[in-house]
Amino acid sequence: MDRRAFLIVTSVGATGLATGFTACKGTGPDPAPSQPKGKEKKEMSVTLPPLPYDASALEPHLSRENIELHHGKHHNAYVVNLNNLIAEGKVERDKPLEQIIMAAPEGPVFNNAAQIWNHTFYWRCMKPGGGGAPGGELAMAIDRDFGSFAKFKEAFVSASVSQFGSGWGWLVVKDGKLSITKTSNADLPMKHGATALLTCDVWEHAYYPTYKNLRQKYIEVFFDHLADWNFAAQNLAIALGKRKA
Ligand code: MN
Repeated sequence: MDRRAFLIVTSVGATGLATGFTACKGTGPDPAPSQPKGKEKKEMSVTLPPLPYDASALEPHLSRENIELHHGKHHNAYVVNLNNLIAEGKVERDKPLEQIIMAAPEGPVFNNAAQIWNHTFYWRCMKPGGGGAPGGELAMAIDRDFGSFAKFKEAFVSASVSQFGSGWGWLVVKDGKLSITKTSNADLPMKHGATALLTCDVWEHAYYPTYKNLRQKYIEVFFDHLADWNFAAQNLAIALGKRKA
């Protein structure tokens, strides 16, 4: 998926909602070849977005096995589960993914839809040769709202490490101000009126194949060697209305 296509999926408009990921054939990605040919299922399906890089592209920081399991098994399972819920009539057809997420109460529909969004977003938050420090407007906003890049890193790593059990660490913007948040399980910033700029998946499945129990090591490596600050900067510009989705 190219950057523009992804931004359509995950970017944040004036409403604070990402747009363009619709749970039906026609406006979403083509259904997988293995989709059942029945009328109902053929019309309504979500598909697993491809990784934006090769599964080995993040080595040695995240192993190929780690990425293949995470994307091909875990992320895909949420897609399969949501398609099953659609087939069972538990999700209204033709809704963009973000609308499904915002409308769903706690439960399987929310969990699976949100985890599809979270993972699609997470893959773009990393790139080979990432990390370092951002520049431009994002750097200025970080200095303004955290005091320094070092303090920002400390807050991001600390929040992500301390998330008890499964969840996500986030850099978000709300009312023009940056902050660090953490969420449990499938929960995500859009449910709290904030816009995601960058996320680190801290479910154990995200790092165990490479780091085993060393969550902090994984988060520091994510920050220092994988984070795509350019992607975060683009999300900030869109959120502030300075760039079109
Ligand atoms: Mn995950």
